[in-house]
Amino acid sequence: MNSLGAFRLTVGIITMIAVLFSVAAIAKDRSPAATATTLIDRPSPQMAIAAASRKPVESQPWGVPPVAAEAPPSPWIDPAFSGRGTITIARGGAALAETAGGPATMTVREGVTFAALSWDGEWIEIQTTCSSRGFVHRSQVRADAAAPDVTVGAGLDFSQAVIVVDPGHGGPRNIGGVGPQGTTEKEVVLDIARRVRDLLNGSHGVDWATGEITTAGPIPPAGRVILTRTGKDADYEVRLDSRAAIANAANAQALVSIHTNAGWAVELNYPGSDVYYQSQPELRPQSVRLARLIAEEFQRSFLRFDANWTGEERTGAKSRESKINPGQQFYGVLRHTEVPAVIAEGAYINSVTQERLLRTPEFRQAYANAVYRALVRYFTTDESGGAKSWDPDVYPSTRGNAGGVDGCVIPSQP
Ligand SMILES: [Zn+2]
Repeated sequence: MNSLGAFRLTVGIITMIAVLFSVAAIAKDRSPAATATTLIDRPSPQMAIAAASRKPVESQPWGVPPVAAEAPPSPWIDPAFSGRGTITIARGGAALAETAGGPATMTVREGVTFAALSWDGEWIEIQTTCSSRGFVHRSQVRADAAAPDVTVGAGLDFSQAVIVVDPGHGGPRNIGGVGPQGTTEKEVVLDIARRVRDLLNGSHGVDWATGEITTAGPIPPAGRVILTRTGKDADYEVRLDSRAAIANAANAQALVSIHTNAGWAVELNYPGSDVYYQSQPELRPQSVRLARLIAEEFQRSFLRFDANWTGEERTGAKSRESKINPGQQFYGVLRHTEVPAVIAEGAYINSVTQERLLRTPEFRQAYANAVYRALVRYFTTDESGGAKSWDPDVYPSTRGNAGGVDGCVIPSQP
């Protein structure tokens, strides 16, 4: 029996045992502050798995902040580059022009990544962080070709996976949610996204019974990991369609947008993590699967932490469609991304106790570990994920669209 078969069997056995004991396990694990709350939702199988396999899984050496300044690349053109893919601004910055060979309008900051749309052998057409089109010269960028098509699922080698990790928000005017202590979502999710990247760029093993990740093992590094906010501080605005354009141009097989939630409806005895999927018919099956896997792994990662958990009454894999544009995705990054994409909302930053966790490297690593395990399962198995999934809602808000371009600033070289 291979390790996956063993994993499935183990999960099956654990699920059967754990469902029997899950109510007791959950009661035992309540934090003192949470004992007054009632169990609002029936314990789902994934919660039972997590409760049964509670064990420190986030004590690896990389539980310390991994975020070093990212060195800008040297100029380089991938031999397979034909105009579609991504470019990253090389050391020293790059002149940005409105036409191929035209006068420079600004110098773009080194280390920043853009979607590449076409080139004429010298000038590469890009979609800027602010949705506009522009041109940069090949001598001032690193250009990576779009990935070849692969079929995701059992039998795929993880080294063929091309993944976009999207830290939500960014820049001075899009800071995202803010916690009671002033923690900003844009800063938390950037750190988590970099931890996901670092996991994906290494070789690891996963104990699928416990979720523990080891520093060496049979899972190879992913083929390519692309962040949508890059460079030394990576604190700049990227419009939602430009985040999606990076995944589309790279021909990635998945985009995971990392967020923290805000607001809630009820107190819960378990983490109120939600993951939003795309409901477009051609993307929905794989997007739901990725969302359910991440939601399941969130429970496994987070249940061992003490917090006053909060959430909506329905947690798990969800989707929101626009009220003003019927049938369209409410969330811009899911509307514009043409490959399977999800928005992960691991915990609530506006909760006092969850913000406290989100400020710790241990919890951020636990968040990243959950996303990593889910991506490995998404790419190399056909598992559908154990978390609950819900049909799309029509979301009665007009927010969530990409908004106007006014005021968006392309990061410039200092
Ligand atoms: Zn957000």
